[in-house]
Amino acid sequence: MPYVIASPCIDTMDRSCVEECPVDCIYEGGRKLYINPKECIDCGACEPVCPVEAISQDRRVAEGDEEHVADNARFFAEVLPGRDEPLGAPGGAHRTGEIGVDTPFVSGL
Ligand code: SF4
Ligand code: SF4
Repeated sequence: MPYVIASPCIDTMDRSCVEECPVDCIYEGGRKLYINPKECIDCGACEPVCPVEAISQDRRVAEGDEEHVADNARFFAEVLPGRDEPLGAPGGAHRTGEIGVDTPFVSGL
């Protein structure tokens, strides 16, 4: 079960988690970061370093934030605003750099 990033990251984005991820599967949107569920190896290294407790396993997401489980996946599976194709599994956030846009769900929060 992959880890996910939920609403406390929105407009916080201090990137502490990015430094900890051994597979570089945490990607930067416009207002929050997103974990790629196809690349996450479920190691848990990112969870304790988040200062706002935004990260958890997908089955332990805080009450009211459940939609972020699907939304982390949508960030990679669906075409984001201003792009021609889905991100898919790029093989590391260093390859894409900052994505700079969010899913419609997050943009609407
Ligand atoms: S659980 Fe591990 S692999 Fe998954 S995002 Fe966190 S640090 Fe990266
Ligand atoms: S450590 Fe937490 S608040 Fe900071 S970027 Fe990662 S998920 Fe967002």
